[in-house]
Amino acid sequence: MRRDAFPKAISNFIMNGIVYLVGAGPGDPGLLTVRGREVLQFADVVVYDRLVGEALLRLPRADAETIFVGKEAARHALPQEEINALLVEKARRGKSVCRLKGGDPFVFGRGGEEALHCRANGIAFEIVPGVSSSIAAPAYAGIPITQRDVASSFAVVTGHTKDDDAPPPQLPVADTLVFLMGVRALPKIVAQLLARGESKEKPVALVRWGTTSKQQVVTGTLETIEEEVARAALKPPALIVVGDVVNLRAQLQWFDNRVVWNQTVVVTRAREQASGLVQQLESLGARVVQCPTIQIRPPHEYSGLDAAIENLSSFDWIVFTSTNGVQFFWNRLRERGLDARALSNASIAAIGPSTQEALRERGLEADFVPISSISESVAEGLQGLVMSGQKVLIARAVDGREVLESKMREGGAQVVVAPCYRTVADVSEAENTRELLRRGEIDWVTFTSSSTVRNFIDAIGFDVINQSRADFRIACIGPITARTLRDCGLEPDVVARDAGVESLVEAITGAPQKEAAAI
Ligand code: SAH
Repeated sequence: MRRDAFPKAISNFIMNGIVYLVGAGPGDPGLLTVRGREVLQFADVVVYDRLVGEALLRLPRADAETIFVGKEAARHALPQEEINALLVEKARRGKSVCRLKGGDPFVFGRGGEEALHCRANGIAFEIVPGVSSSIAAPAYAGIPITQRDVASSFAVVTGHTKDDDAPPPQLPVADTLVFLMGVRALPKIVAQLLARGESKEKPVALVRWGTTSKQQVVTGTLETIEEEVARAALKPPALIVVGDVVNLRAQLQWFDNRVVWNQTVVVTRAREQASGLVQQLESLGARVVQCPTIQIRPPHEYSGLDAAIENLSSFDWIVFTSTNGVQFFWNRLRERGLDARALSNASIAAIGPSTQEALRERGLEADFVPISSISESVAEGLQGLVMSGQKVLIARAVDGREVLESKMREGGAQVVVAPCYRTVADVSEAENTRELLRRGEIDWVTFTSSSTVRNFIDAIGFDVINQSRADFRIACIGPITARTLRDCGLEPDVVARDAGVESLVEAITGAPQKEAAAI
């Protein structure tokens, strides 16, 4: 349809795209707004800056065009005029353009200029405000920018005026001052504040990479802060907070003092299964490196499992030794047009709470769950429950442990094993993890099964692990995993009390702080 067939305003609306000026928040991906996420997910084009967190760049559609126009301080990858022109050009082609900016687009983000340029060119725009670092970074440092009886006003000031690393000559008067882009101008800011009569004792904090796992905070007073910043070798991007509220950090620090803050933890569990552990560790402040050593795959052939499913009513007990076993068994059952009623004849055993939960999600309640989640305990518990001659089906991995079936057979049960899935080695992250180990950047390695131990050692190489062994600690999910580790020549530092993810995390957080190496 021809553009001039419509009045101008309507034709613009129909034929042109639209520019969304979206605030990405200060760095923590959880601080993106709901509307921001929506736009990021449907946009045709995403134009983003340097301060936009990497995690958000996984949100755009696979076929969306993503364009980096980032700004290093003082070194613009693309001049502002070209960014403006790019937004208009893409929108003119009918695209929906998400212009993603760190923090809030209108807080020193030049969002206003981009909006004016859209308006001048007849391009529709929408503003999606974001959580500004000027408020959020102090908050994550435990500094409320206002506080009854301490600070009743705040001002956000630039430390970088048009062509200079300097604040504006006339600083605003407010109880709390927050300077953005001010690290290089710190000496000038301090000098200006002292010159207008502020006390040398006035508290000051610098927050670098606030709200992220790289957050770094340096505190001092107008008199000492330059020295403190030099000592910590703190570099941009950081903001500066000046005001008595900085003192509240001593009581309100909550983010960068969490139990495993700044510790790098390797998770070796298969990616499909790792999310619970990863989330728990991250919520406690850890930096997680995923190095999955196994992948869960369907078995090469289903004859064993299918035969068991066909004869389900003949079994007295069905034993599940992992959540994967439940998942693969259940999926096959459903594929064959059956449901929970097919298990109604049998009693059900689960090796531990996670497996019990996986059954529960499918409407099945386990009749027996041992206190300690290992095959030996299942066997022991079942020996009192299974009569001699009764039929027991064990749903497990193709290459799973055989101890359970041999113990049950010894007790006189007729045991059938249904191989439900297999585990295969995954070496996709080995190179990266090996490098981190060599550089001494890993604090913990976690093992959640015997196969993660063996595959990790195979993938990384025993020598590399052994040589950097003094730099990191090892946490095992339970006694069997710990035993496998010892059999391989390595000693665990902590072993979880009851073979679950929670207790593994507890074991890590409960471990005494490692003594700093002597310098
Ligand atoms: N529009 C952004 C600010 C852009 S100016 C906002 O609302 O947050 C860029 C400056 O913001 C940086 O130089 C730094 O001073 C500050 N900044 C941005 N993200 C930050 C963060 N995560 N931690 C500390 N300062 C940050």
